[in-house]
Amino acid sequence: MMRCRLSLFAAGVLLIAAQPVPAQTPSDSTWQQQAQKLLTARAAAVQKGDLPEFTRTMRGAPAPFVKARRQWFDRIRTLPLGSYSLTLAQDQFGDLALPADTRNYKGDVHIVQVKERIAFKGFDRSPAEEDLFLTLRNSGGAWSVVADTDRENLFLMSMRNIWDFGPVQTTSRSGILVITHPAQRSAASTILSDAIAARTTARKRWPYPWRDPIIIMVPSTVSELARVLQTQFDLSSFVAFASSSLTRDKDWSLTGDRVFLHWSNYSRYDTGYRRLILDHEFTHLATRAATGPYVQSFMDEGTAQYYGEAAAGNAAPYTRTRVRSGRFTGRVPEDWFFTAGPPEDIYLAYELSLSFITYLGKRFGHNAGARAYQATAAEKPVSPGTWRYHQGLAFRRTFGVGFESLERGWADATRKAYR
Ligand SMILES: [Zn+2]
Repeated sequence: MMRCRLSLFAAGVLLIAAQPVPAQTPSDSTWQQQAQKLLTARAAAVQKGDLPEFTRTMRGAPAPFVKARRQWFDRIRTLPLGSYSLTLAQDQFGDLALPADTRNYKGDVHIVQVKERIAFKGFDRSPAEEDLFLTLRNSGGAWSVVADTDRENLFLMSMRNIWDFGPVQTTSRSGILVITHPAQRSAASTILSDAIAARTTARKRWPYPWRDPIIIMVPSTVSELARVLQTQFDLSSFVAFASSSLTRDKDWSLTGDRVFLHWSNYSRYDTGYRRLILDHEFTHLATRAATGPYVQSFMDEGTAQYYGEAAAGNAAPYTRTRVRSGRFTGRVPEDWFFTAGPPEDIYLAYELSLSFITYLGKRFGHNAGARAYQATAAEKPVSPGTWRYHQGLAFRRTFGVGFESLERGWADATRKAYR
């Protein structure tokens, strides 16, 4: 079974969240300013728990949309909402409306990317930040949100959370929040006990301090999980994911860290293995505050196995097969290997990642993988050069040896071990 890092990278440059819209009359303000005013009012209604005001921001919208959003409102209000904001983002897509949309909605229509930021009180060090693609209609100066699925034909999907799929409830203890549907109510206490134990282990094993609270979400079905994560690959054999949103607000950083559990797979394992799965995922979380754009999946997955699982990378059946059949490339796996291939290739990608971090540990000491991770993560802000270039700088700074040379050394050692 796979346990995988998965980051929901939402690209694009942001306007400042909750930026106050200058007080202007509709006649002398731009449509963007008027739209932001609507969004600010809508977000304030969510923040205050004002359902009538929230509903007023959807005047004239189709009844099924209003119904679904009101349900969403009721459900999110059962969660410990710390902050909620909606910010018009125009830099990436501009206005996505087509003439057909104007005809369809009979009015001045704009379809826009909106940054939705949600922070749970006491749990998020900074808000999760995801995209909504909202259809906004201006009818006689009255603005309203009338849809959020109109550009799914371009695969521009509005964020869905597990509370879009049904009621949710929370269980929390000691800085860990578990959000489930009522049907998984009995799972929550098992997950919480597992998580508390796993966090202690993960903190001990990762060489750098990590004290952040943890949010764990438990969708009901694979299709729900797939829609929340917006994945195109088969999730049926995955057990857990660490996901984060990318914010470009200040340079480049990951925020809104969440662990998603595929409960029907997770619950098949005994306590020890369940905690090992969480040790792995929590090690991903431990790296998120510091991570950077040039950290590759093999570094994430290698360190999560080597430190989180305390795995050694000695038994590697898929690597052995590759070496013996002459199909071992001697390169660390590229990011797409972790999701796109057949299961054997995905297993191989995990094996090679662990094997590379283990090689660093043997050569430069137990903390070498973590040191290399931190150094690569520190290669920011965004600047020219490929990940290999930046990683090369980081490795040379850390070990006095370039990445290419280390990769060759690892490849030679691997061929020798398995031939
Ligand atoms: Zn992982």
